[in-house]
Amino acid sequence: MKEKTIALVAHDNRKKDLVEWVEFNVDILMNYNLICTGTTGILVETALREKLGVKKDSLKITKLKSGPLGGDQQMGAMIAEGKIDYLIFLWDPMEPQPHDVDVKALWRIASVYNIPTAINRSTADFIISSPLMNYDYRPIRKDFSEYLNRVVEL
Ligand code: PGA
Repeated sequence: MKEKTIALVAHDNRKKDLVEWVEFNVDILMNYNLICTGTTGILVETALREKLGVKKDSLKITKLKSGPLGGDQQMGAMIAEGKIDYLIFLWDPMEPQPHDVDVKALWRIASVYNIPTAINRSTADFIISSPLMNYDYRPIRKDFSEYLNRVVEL
Protein backbone atom coordinates (compact mmCIF):
# COMPACT_ATOMS: atom_id res chain seq x y z
CA MET A 1 0.00 0.00 0.00
CA LYS A 2 1.40 3.39 -0.91
CA GLU A 3 2.28 5.72 1.91
CA LYS A 4 -0.69 7.99 2.55
CA THR A 5 -0.73 11.68 3.33
CA ILE A 6 -3.03 13.54 5.69
CA ALA A 7 -3.39 17.31 5.38
CA LEU A 8 -4.05 19.17 8.62
CA VAL A 9 -5.35 22.73 8.95
CA ALA A 10 -7.05 24.61 11.77
CA HIS A 11 -8.28 28.14 12.04
CA ASP A 12 -6.88 30.00 15.05
CA ASN A 13 -9.85 29.32 17.36
CA ARG A 14 -9.69 25.61 16.49
CA LYS A 15 -5.94 25.03 16.76
CA LYS A 16 -6.17 23.83 20.36
CA ASP A 17 -8.77 21.26 19.26
CA LEU A 18 -6.57 20.06 16.44
CA VAL A 19 -3.51 19.73 18.65
CA GLU A 20 -5.56 17.69 21.15
CA TRP A 21 -6.84 15.51 18.31
CA VAL A 22 -3.30 14.98 17.00
CA GLU A 23 -2.04 14.07 20.48
CA PHE A 24 -4.89 11.61 20.98
CA ASN A 25 -4.25 9.97 17.61
CA VAL A 26 -0.46 10.13 17.62
CA ASP A 27 0.09 6.38 17.20
CA ILE A 28 -2.02 6.28 14.05
CA LEU A 29 -0.74 9.55 12.64
CA MET A 30 2.89 8.38 12.85
CA ASN A 31 2.09 6.00 9.97
CA TYR A 32 1.24 8.89 7.64
CA ASN A 33 2.92 11.82 6.00
CA LEU A 34 1.52 15.02 7.45
CA ILE A 35 1.13 18.20 5.43
CA CYS A 36 0.09 21.30 7.36
CA THR A 37 -0.46 24.97 6.73
CA GLY A 38 2.27 27.02 8.38
CA THR A 39 1.10 27.93 11.85
CA THR A 40 -0.90 24.75 12.30
CA GLY A 41 2.23 22.82 11.34
CA ILE A 42 4.40 24.57 13.90
CA LEU A 43 1.91 23.76 16.67
CA VAL A 44 1.45 20.15 15.56
CA GLU A 45 5.19 19.60 15.26
CA THR A 46 5.87 21.19 18.65
CA ALA A 47 3.20 19.05 20.33
CA LEU A 48 4.48 15.86 18.76
CA ARG A 49 8.14 16.53 19.43
CA GLU A 50 8.14 18.37 22.72
CA LYS A 51 5.07 16.99 24.48
CA LEU A 52 5.01 13.47 23.10
CA GLY A 53 8.74 13.05 22.47
CA VAL A 54 8.42 11.96 18.84
CA LYS A 55 11.91 11.85 17.32
CA LYS A 56 12.69 14.16 14.43
CA ASP A 57 13.48 11.34 11.98
CA SER A 58 10.23 9.49 12.65
CA LEU A 59 8.11 12.56 12.05
CA LYS A 60 7.13 13.08 8.41
CA ILE A 61 5.72 16.59 8.49
CA THR A 62 5.77 19.27 5.81
CA LYS A 63 4.81 22.83 6.63
CA LEU A 64 3.38 24.95 3.82
CA LYS A 65 2.89 28.70 3.94
CA SER A 66 0.50 30.07 6.52
CA GLY A 67 -3.11 29.76 5.32
CA PRO A 68 -3.78 33.47 4.78
CA LEU A 69 -0.47 33.76 2.91
CA GLY A 70 -1.28 31.04 0.39
CA GLY A 71 -0.99 27.81 2.39
CA ASP A 72 -4.55 26.72 1.59
CA GLN A 73 -3.92 27.27 -2.10
CA GLN A 74 -0.69 25.26 -1.94
CA MET A 75 -2.63 22.47 -0.27
CA GLY A 76 -5.34 22.62 -2.93
CA ALA A 77 -2.69 22.32 -5.65
CA MET A 78 -1.27 19.24 -3.91
CA ILE A 79 -4.75 17.65 -3.87
CA ALA A 80 -5.07 18.32 -7.61
CA GLU A 81 -1.69 16.63 -8.10
CA GLY A 82 -2.81 13.54 -6.15
CA LYS A 83 -0.39 14.18 -3.28
CA ILE A 84 -2.95 14.34 -0.46
CA ASP A 85 -5.26 11.50 0.56
CA TYR A 86 -7.21 13.02 3.48
CA LEU A 87 -8.04 16.55 4.55
CA ILE A 88 -8.73 17.42 8.18
CA PHE A 89 -9.66 21.10 8.38
CA LEU A 90 -11.03 22.32 11.69
CA TRP A 91 -12.56 25.61 10.63
CA ASP A 92 -14.04 28.35 12.74
CA PRO A 93 -17.73 28.77 11.91
CA MET A 94 -18.01 31.93 14.05
CA GLU A 95 -15.41 34.22 12.50
CA PRO A 96 -14.93 35.48 8.97
CA GLN A 97 -11.38 34.89 7.73
CA PRO A 98 -9.35 37.12 5.41
CA HIS A 99 -8.76 34.10 3.19
CA ASP A 100 -12.32 32.72 3.11
CA VAL A 101 -12.15 32.41 -0.66
CA ASP A 102 -9.01 30.26 -0.39
CA VAL A 103 -10.74 28.03 2.15
CA LYS A 104 -13.70 27.61 -0.16
CA ALA A 105 -11.36 26.80 -3.05
CA LEU A 106 -9.60 24.16 -0.94
CA TRP A 107 -12.88 22.48 -0.01
CA ARG A 108 -14.00 22.66 -3.61
CA ILE A 109 -10.91 20.92 -4.95
CA ALA A 110 -11.18 18.30 -2.17
CA SER A 111 -14.69 17.59 -3.49
CA VAL A 112 -13.57 17.50 -7.12
CA TYR A 113 -11.03 14.81 -6.22
CA ASN A 114 -13.40 13.18 -3.74
CA ILE A 115 -10.88 12.87 -0.93
CA PRO A 116 -12.22 12.18 2.58
CA THR A 117 -12.59 15.60 4.19
CA ALA A 118 -13.44 16.56 7.77
CA ILE A 119 -14.48 20.08 8.62
CA ASN A 120 -15.14 19.30 12.28
CA ARG A 121 -13.61 17.16 14.98
CA SER A 122 -16.25 14.44 15.08
CA THR A 123 -15.87 13.78 11.36
CA ALA A 124 -12.10 13.71 11.87
CA ASP A 125 -12.70 11.00 14.51
CA PHE A 126 -14.80 9.00 12.07
CA ILE A 127 -12.16 9.23 9.34
CA ILE A 128 -9.18 8.31 11.53
CA SER A 129 -11.01 5.33 13.06
CA SER A 130 -12.39 4.01 9.77
CA PRO A 131 -11.25 0.48 8.80
CA LEU A 132 -10.87 1.88 5.28
CA MET A 133 -7.78 3.73 6.50
CA ASN A 134 -5.99 0.36 6.40
CA TYR A 135 -6.97 -0.46 2.84
CA ASP A 136 -5.73 0.76 -0.48
CA TYR A 137 -8.90 2.82 -0.78
CA ARG A 138 -9.09 4.81 -3.98
CA PRO A 139 -11.83 7.41 -4.07
CA ILE A 140 -14.06 7.16 -7.12
CA ARG A 141 -13.50 10.19 -9.27
CA LYS A 142 -16.26 11.61 -11.41
CA ASP A 143 -15.47 11.35 -15.08
CA PHE A 144 -14.84 14.91 -16.23
CA SER A 145 -13.89 13.96 -19.81
CA GLU A 146 -17.07 15.53 -21.18
CA TYR A 147 -16.03 18.75 -19.54
CA LEU A 148 -12.53 18.49 -20.99
CA ASN A 149 -13.82 17.67 -24.48
CA ARG A 150 -16.42 20.40 -24.62
CA VAL A 151 -16.29 22.66 -27.62
CA VAL A 152 -15.94 26.25 -26.66
CA GLU A 153 -17.45 28.51 -29.28
CA LEU A 154 -15.73 31.84 -29.56
P1 PGA B 1 -2.32 28.53 9.55
O1 PGA B 1 -3.42 28.59 8.42
O2 PGA B 1 -2.11 27.11 9.90
O3 PGA B 1 -1.07 29.12 8.92
O4 PGA B 1 -2.82 29.34 10.68
C1 PGA B 1 -4.64 28.01 8.68
C2 PGA B 1 -5.72 28.59 7.82
O5 PGA B 1 -5.79 28.32 6.63
O6 PGA B 1 -6.49 29.38 8.33
